[in-house]
Amino acid sequence: MQEITKIIHSLPVDPLTGSISTPVYQTATFVQDAPGEHRGFDYARSNNPTRQVLENLIAQLEHGQRGLAFASGLAAIDCVLKLLGAGDEIVAVDDIYGGSFRLFTHVYEKFGVKITYTDTTDAQNVLKALSPRTRLVWLESPTNPTLKVSDIEAIARYTHAAGALLVVDNTFCSPAIQTPLTLGADIVIHSATKYLAGHSDVIAGLLAIRDRELGDRLKFIQNASGGILGPWDSWLTIRGIETLPLRIEAHSRNALAVAQALQAHEAVAEVFYPGLPTHKNHDVATRQQRHFGGVVSFRLKEDSIEAARAFATATSLFKLAESLGGVKSLVCHPATMTHKSIPAEKRHASGVSDSLIRLSCGIEGAQDLVQDVLQALSVCLEPAATDC
Ligand SMILES: *Cc1c(COP(=O)(O)O)cnc(C)c1O
Repeated sequence: MQEITKIIHSLPVDPLTGSISTPVYQTATFVQDAPGEHRGFDYARSNNPTRQVLENLIAQLEHGQRGLAFASGLAAIDCVLKLLGAGDEIVAVDDIYGGSFRLFTHVYEKFGVKITYTDTTDAQNVLKALSPRTRLVWLESPTNPTLKVSDIEAIARYTHAAGALLVVDNTFCSPAIQTPLTLGADIVIHSATKYLAGHSDVIAGLLAIRDRELGDRLKFIQNASGGILGPWDSWLTIRGIETLPLRIEAHSRNALAVAQALQAHEAVAEVFYPGLPTHKNHDVATRQQRHFGGVVSFRLKEDSIEAARAFATATSLFKLAESLGGVKSLVCHPATMTHKSIPAEKRHASGVSDSLIRLSCGIEGAQDLVQDVLQALSVCLEPAATDC
């Protein structure tokens, strides 16, 4: 059966009423038949039927044994970190999502967890960073915002040989593009806020776990800590996932068209998109991804904050906002938005130069998006544009 058919028909019809849409069980507790005798649900932090449909769906899509749904992507990440204790170590991708960096460094380091950051695009760097105390290797591929791609299969082998677990933040891809558990990862994380829910209208996080026993440990932590996703937000996320494969195809088609137009433009210095043959890790991306995704970044020849700001305020379809993965296109200037709190030197070292711009291509018409980017670039080329 094709993926889209499987997704749509794996969502159960409500056995009580025949409702074709998943019912929203807006309840805190469940009436018991006798003390301790219930129908699989006792208290809605532990289990909720709407959330359970979503948890089963993400497990199926990522080829895992268990799925778990959280109030945000960071709540899902926090649950995984609670597997660790003082003295344990993490080896993480160097241009990691800023929120994960903040949680690792400003919350977990004080509990005695040590984090080593390395450029994971070379799997040998991971091998060198592993120590007998390494418990987790933490990847994002492609990364944000410079879209570096790492070889998940090779890194999984090194990680397991060292007795550690491989965690992949799959937010930028979604399971419609790559399924890290099938490449050897142990845990997949999603900010479902992005492509899975897909409409920029909900904050949600998901885990998919390859092994049932590890899944049970994480389920225990989820229930003990309580950062669960509510029933309405679970429903919105399910509703989004029903059209995921269609949207991912449109996002990827649009992003490739935009990347090609940028690459051909005289005002542009460099374009970062794994779908371009010029991308440093294009071969690995082609091997492990079915599509190349909706995010494109680029640098202007005039590498200044002012030039980037002129571009980011000249687009009309691309709305100026943080986040990505929704049906509407967004433009972001990392140096003054998502990466503002990182000192300029450190930011430059990780490839986030002053004029770097990140585009999240939505599902609008490709020609309209290309047109919007070209007209915004032409503003940057005008000699009268004082900002450029
Ligand atoms: C947004 C994002 C997160 C955090 O998710 P929230 O839902 O905002 O908590 C984690 N990882 C990546 C790669 C993200 O883009």
